[in-house]
Amino acid sequence: MALDRPMAMAKTAQPLLSVRNLRVSFALDEGLVRAVDGTSFDVMPGQVLGVVGESGCGKSVTMRAILQLVERPGRITAGEIHFRRRPVNGGGEDSAEVVDIARLPPRGPVMRDIRGGEIALIPQEPMAAFSPVHTVGDQIVEAILLHGHRWQEGGRKLKRREARDITVGLFRDVGISMPEQRIDAFSWQLSGGLRQRAMIAMALSCKPRLLIADEPTTAIDVTTQAQVLALLRDLQARYGTAIIFITHDLGVIAQMASYVVVMYLGRVMEEGPVDDIFHAPKHPYTRALLRSIPSLYGETRVALPVISGALPHPFNRPPGCPFHPRCPDVMAKCSGAVPGLQPVGTSQLASCFLHHDVVEPE
Ligand code: SF4
Repeated sequence: MALDRPMAMAKTAQPLLSVRNLRVSFALDEGLVRAVDGTSFDVMPGQVLGVVGESGCGKSVTMRAILQLVERPGRITAGEIHFRRRPVNGGGEDSAEVVDIARLPPRGPVMRDIRGGEIALIPQEPMAAFSPVHTVGDQIVEAILLHGHRWQEGGRKLKRREARDITVGLFRDVGISMPEQRIDAFSWQLSGGLRQRAMIAMALSCKPRLLIADEPTTAIDVTTQAQVLALLRDLQARYGTAIIFITHDLGVIAQMASYVVVMYLGRVMEEGPVDDIFHAPKHPYTRALLRSIPSLYGETRVALPVISGALPHPFNRPPGCPFHPRCPDVMAKCSGAVPGLQPVGTSQLASCFLHHDVVEPE
């Protein structure tokens, strides 16, 4: 199950989440779309992992698979998603049960307990996540009552009044002013920034071990984006929650994450510590992504380089390395076999024949 990691990457703690060779396909009338095609990565306890790639690279589908929320005609067709559950009865981490989410029934009791109770999602557009006919406060109170044992002491049942007080405290924690009044608002009465903060309060209401933030600043203005990113950094430091931060923006990754996974067409192209990936990217796709970030110190009015070519149509997946039709370093062998994800240097992994000859088994 473990990737063969360089010594510098040997991890002392057990992963909180370990995704191995995950495949998710959509059977459409036009053909089969392999949205996630053999993805592997780990999330360590308390780590902020950045997952970056262009839209259509499979990052959001991977996250929906982790929550068992892939909708038909999509299906997890292969792979494992090992999640280390919260230890019970005050036991240590060593006693925590590890489950393979890929094997759990999506609507079964264990998955329902994990989804929302141990892994929470902050979606791109919180408007769609809140019901318009109930106040945001009532929805969070219900979530707290549902997962109330996270807040109880001594097994006592939580009262609605206590859940409301917790919600007010969460609103205060996420920087919502006048929380006592604001919890009685409907989602459509709040600004985009406040709605996203309320969504973060909702996600925190179950005291998750893992928070998945799926482009959480897409639907809000630039000033509010910076505030929400600062809030998430602060909450991660305060609660020690692990976060998977999904974005197409490497600039956001630089601010948020300590470790980054770069995805393209459903596969991991490169992964490593953020500093190493930014200073010494190994994969041609990562280099191309980095060249397309505006520099604070570069000349203004210079057109940013774009990655040549377009993402292939999902039904016309290229053979061999998925990046080969757009790669400036392409070689003859690149269209004939898929490169495996292998250690490169002391801290990174890359799927590229420039660095090794290991072929991914079909
Ligand atoms: Fe480019 Fe070949 Fe490396 Fe793919 S394997 S990224 S085509 S050099």
